Amino acid sequence: VRILQTSERVQRRLIAVASGKGGVGKSTVSANLAIALARLNKKVGLVDADIYGPSQPKLMGVEGTKPQARDKTLLPVATPYGVPLLSMGQLAAPDQAIAWRGPMAGNALVQMLEADWGSADTLVLDMPPGTGDVQLTMVQKHKPAGAVIVCTPQDLALIDAKRALDFFVKTGVPVIGLVENMAGYACPECGAVSDPFGSGGAESAAAELGIPFLGRIPLAIDIRVRSDAGEPPAAGNGPQAGAFDSIAQKVAD
Ligand code: ADP
Repeated sequence: VRILQTSERVQRRLIAVASGKGGVGKSTVSANLAIALARLNKKVGLVDADIYGPSQPKLMGVEGTKPQARDKTLLPVATPYGVPLLSMGQLAAPDQAIAWRGPMAGNALVQMLEADWGSADTLVLDMPPGTGDVQLTMVQKHKPAGAVIVCTPQDLALIDAKRALDFFVKTGVPVIGLVENMAGYACPECGAVSDPFGSGGAESAAAELGIPFLGRIPLAIDIRVRSDAGEPPAAGNGPQAGAFDSIAQKVAD
C-alpha cells in the first residue's frame, strides 16, 4: 500500500473503481460507494479521474463548482453527502476535457490526489474506462490499495471486465472484487427484480476468476433519475441504498 504524503501526513487508502469499457455504471458505482462508505463513518473523498466523461460533479449535486486553491494546493469541493470531491470536469472546460491525454491528465491527477483532503483516510478513485496508457501510468504512480471492478451481465462486458482484472493483476494492485451493475430489472411499481436474461453470470465469473463478488445492483429507473438529479440513491432510504451499503461494507472490511 502506497501512503500518500500530505502536509498532514494522513495515511490514505486509494480505492480504484474501474471497468473494462465505458457505460457500465462505473461512475454511478463510485459515487454511491463513496457515500455508502461515508455512511459507515469512514472519512471518504472522491476523485473523478474519468477524463473521457467526468460526471461526478453532476452525480454529487455540485455541477458547475470550481475548486479553490491555497498555496498551490487544491481544496476539494464539499458535496451535500459528506464526501468532498475533485473532478477532472472541474479542472478543464467541458469541451476541453476530452482532448486531455497522458501528461496533462497525469498532472491533474497528481494535483487532485495531493489536494488538501483534510481528515479523509479513504479516497475513491473513479478511473477512466479501459486499460490504456493513462490507466497504466495512474496505477503505477499512485499504487491503489485495491481495485473494484464494475461490469454488466452481458458476456461482452464480462470479457472487458476480465481484461480489467488482468490489468490489475499484472500491475500488482489487489482486486477487492467485482460489482455487477444493471443486473436484472427493478420494477418501478413494486421494486421486485426480474432477470429477463438470467442471473448469476458475474457471480460465477468472479468465482472462476478467484475474486470476491461484492454484489449486484439492478437496472432501476430510480437510479438513473436520482443520478441525473444529483441525488445519489445511496444517500436516500430507497431500495437501492441497501445494495450499495452492503457493497461498501465488504469494501471497508
Ligand atoms: P460509466 O461511468 O461506466 O461510463 P455511468 O455511471 O456514467 O457509466 O452510467 C451510464 C448511464 O447509465 C448513466 O445515465 C447512469 O445514470 C445509468 N446507470 C448506471 N447504473 C444504472 C442502474 N443500475 N440503473 C439504471 N441506470 C443506471
